Amino acid sequence: MKKYLKRLFVINILVICLTSMMVSLGNCQELPKIEVLFSPEQGEEILQTLESAIQSAEKRVYILIYSFTLDELAQAIIDKYEEGVDVRIILDKGQAGSKVTENLKQAGIPLILKAGSEGGYMHLKVLIADDTVLTGSYNYSNNTTYRSDENLLIIMDKGILEAHLVKFNQLWEKELPVASPKITETKQRAPPDIIVYITKTGKKYHSSGCRYLSKSRIPISLTKAKQRGYTACSVCRPPS
Ligand SMILES: [Zn+2]
Repeated sequence: MKKYLKRLFVINILVICLTSMMVSLGNCQELPKIEVLFSPEQGEEILQTLESAIQSAEKRVYILIYSFTLDELAQAIIDKYEEGVDVRIILDKGQAGSKVTENLKQAGIPLILKAGSEGGYMHLKVLIADDTVLTGSYNYSNNTTYRSDENLLIIMDKGILEAHLVKFNQLWEKELPVASPKITETKQRAPPDIIVYITKTGKKYHSSGCRYLSKSRIPISLTKAKQRGYTACSVCRPPS
């Protein structure tokens, strides 16, 4: 009898072990994949991680950033935008007029500057590159790369991704005056400012309903139209 009980006990233990192994294996598959890097010791690695996340993106690069002064990251973003990937940037208002902000704007990248929703800062530091979220205290500056103590989490998790997409869209929509969601869904880029229309041969830009648009009607952001030397039509008087 004693021997029988002992055997039963061993079998029980085995079953428990096997069950818990299976449960933990099952859980492992569902666990989000998260990595973390710290600056200044891994500052260079953080920068490279962000850069390669941008470079390898195929569908979207959405950025929320409080402070942005790194030219190399700005260039990676511009290159990606010129490939036709959906690139959008939300910066804190304090970045207005900075060198990087102006470079990004000049490249035509949809970009908005905003204060925090309740009047504070837009203090988020988030890169959504395709389905990966890269976030933490790390701002895109030399200071955070080489001097400060910061972190960057690299998160591959559906729930975290969705939450950040919702937040990004909330902030984006609030500020965006013209572009409808339909424009952002298509390959057409969504400029952050007013859309006007140019024609194949003319040197003027027009409002949507202008009679000069009967033969050709090419949408363009007001900023770009001006950059390219187009001037306002005197008939339809588009915004200037
Ligand atoms: Zn006109």
